[in-house]
Amino acid sequence: MFNEELAEIFSELADMEEIEGQKWESLAYRKVSASISGLGEDIREISRRNELRKIDGVGNAIEKKIRQYIEDGRIEAYDNLKKKYPIDFKNLRKLQGMGPKKIAALYTNLGITDIPGLAEAINSHRIAGLPGFGVKTEKNISSALNVLMSAGPTRIPLGKAYGDIMEIKNFLDRSGLFDKVVIAGSTRRMKETIGDVDILATARDWTRAGNAFTSSDYVSGIVVRGDSKITVNLKLGITCDLRFIDEGSFGAALQYFTGSKEHNINIRNIAISSGMKLNEYGLYRDHVQVAGKTESEIYRKLGMDYIEPELRENTGEIEAAIKGDLPGIVGYEQIRGDLHVHTKDSDGLNTLDEMITRGKENGLEYMVITNHSEGLKVANGLDDARFREMNQRIEEASSRLAFHALKGVELEILKDGTLDLGRQILEEMDFVLASLHQYISNDESENTSRVLKAIKSGLVNGIAHPTGRIIGKREPYKLNLDRIIEECAINGVFLEINGDPYRSDLPADIVRRAKDSGIMFSLGSDAHNISGLTNIRFATAIARRGWLEGKQVINTLDFNNFKKLISR
Ligand SMILES: [Zn+2]
Ligand SMILES: [Zn+2]
Repeated sequence: MFNEELAEIFSELADMEEIEGQKWESLAYRKVSASISGLGEDIREISRRNELRKIDGVGNAIEKKIRQYIEDGRIEAYDNLKKKYPIDFKNLRKLQGMGPKKIAALYTNLGITDIPGLAEAINSHRIAGLPGFGVKTEKNISSALNVLMSAGPTRIPLGKAYGDIMEIKNFLDRSGLFDKVVIAGSTRRMKETIGDVDILATARDWTRAGNAFTSSDYVSGIVVRGDSKITVNLKLGITCDLRFIDEGSFGAALQYFTGSKEHNINIRNIAISSGMKLNEYGLYRDHVQVAGKTESEIYRKLGMDYIEPELRENTGEIEAAIKGDLPGIVGYEQIRGDLHVHTKDSDGLNTLDEMITRGKENGLEYMVITNHSEGLKVANGLDDARFREMNQRIEEASSRLAFHALKGVELEILKDGTLDLGRQILEEMDFVLASLHQYISNDESENTSRVLKAIKSGLVNGIAHPTGRIIGKREPYKLNLDRIIEECAINGVFLEINGDPYRSDLPADIVRRAKDSGIMFSLGSDAHNISGLTNIRFATAIARRGWLEGKQVINTLDFNNFKKLISR
C-alpha cells in the first residue's frame, strides 16, 4: 500500500513536469514510479537496509525524495507543483487517450480538475471548441468516460486489492487478539472486481480486538462502530466491515456473508421448501439449530454437496450440487507453471534471472518467457536476432538456476492476419502465444478473421488475452468468439486466461461457455515485474469461476508432460 502511494506521487510528478515542459525530469519520475510499483517488498524495508539506490531509476535526487516521504509523509517538490496544478491526475489518467498534455489543456482553458468537472464540460459541449480537441476528441473522451463509469466508481480489480487484504488478515492473525479471521464476500468468491471487504472474526475480547483493527495502518477512518460490527474506510479506497461472530454460528455467517445474493436467495428458498429456515445465525427446524458451525454441514443438511465459493453465482451450481454432479474444479495448488511472463528485454521491469528466481520462490516448476515481437514498437518488441540471443540466455539461466524456463514469444498478429515473425524463428520457440494489440477494427469479421488465420497457421500454441478488454478502460474487441473457440478446438490451439487484474481475460462467463467445446486453456500472469507473478492466482480463480477441471488447464501438467503437449 505504501509503495502504491509513493508510486502514484512520482507518477503525478511526472505528469506535472511534463506539463511544465521538463521532459527529462518527467521521464525520470515515470521510470521510478514504475520501478516502485513493481517492487516485491515494502520500500521502507529497502530504505532501512540503505539499498534505495539499487532500485532501477533511483539516483541521488530521487533517493532524497523517497527518504523525505518515508520520514515526513510528504515530498516538497510534489507539494509545490501540486499548488500550481490542483488536479485529480489519478482518475483523469484512467480515461483512455487522456495524457498529461490534454489534462493540462482542460485545466488551463476550462478549469477542469476532476471527473465530475469533465463530465459537466462534456454535457455542455465545451470541449470540442478547445484548440487541439475538436468534435471527435470530445466524443472519444465521452465514450471513455462512459466505460469508466460503467465499471462503477468504487469497484476495484481484485488483483489490485488482494495483496493488501491478505496483509490485513495476517496483521489481525498475528495480533494475538483474534481466534479466527476469515475474508468473506466477493473477495472469497474471487470476483474480478470488488466493491468492499467483508471480514468475519471470532475473538474473546471484542473491544480490544476491534481497537487493534481500527488503529491499524490500513484504516483511514471509522464510519460506524457498533458492538459486533465495525465499518471503516480502508486506505485502499474502499470500505471494510469487520464482524464478530459466535463460534456456533460461524459457518452460517460465512455462508451468508460470502454471497452471492442470488445464490443465497435460492439456498434460503430450498431451506424453506424443506421446512427449515436459514439465516446468518444458522439453519433451523422448529426454532432448533440443526447446522451453523460450518458451511459444509449447512449444505449437507440442505441435501446438497459443498459448493466452492467461486461457483456461488446461482448459475446452475445449486442444481448440480443437489444431483451430486458438480465438477471437481481446478485447485490453486495444482498450478505448476506460468505461461505468460515478460522481462526487461521487452517491456518488463525485471531481469530474466529476477523473474526466474521469484517464480521458483513462489513454487513454480516452469515458466515460459514470452516477450513481445518486433511489431509491437511501444513495448520494445524483439526481432529474430534479439530473440536468438534471448533464447540462449534462457537456456543458460535455466541450467544455472536449476529451473525450467522455456523459450516463448507474445507474437503480434499483423493487420492482414499474418504473423510478425517467420517460420524459422518460431520453430525455435517452445511456446508461441499470438495476440491482437494493434489495428483493432470496428468490424467484427475483420478482427475475427485475423485471429482465425493465426489459429490455422500451425505455428501458434495459444491466443493471449483473447477479448482484449481492459476493466474500466476498454470494451472487448468485436469478435466472433464462438468461431474462435470452434477453430481452436479443431487446431488444438489453447485460449489463454490472462490473470492481469485489469485484463482478467478470458472473463469467467466466456470460459464457462467454452468449457465443453473440447479446447484446453493456458493460464498466464502476464507479469511485467516480480510482484506480477502472483497474478497467476487470479487466472486460476477465473478458471474456477468458469467451472474448469484440472485436466482442462495445461498448467496443471508436470514439466515433462507439458513439454510433450506443446511440441508442435
Ligand atoms: Zn499482450
Ligand atoms: Zn503480455
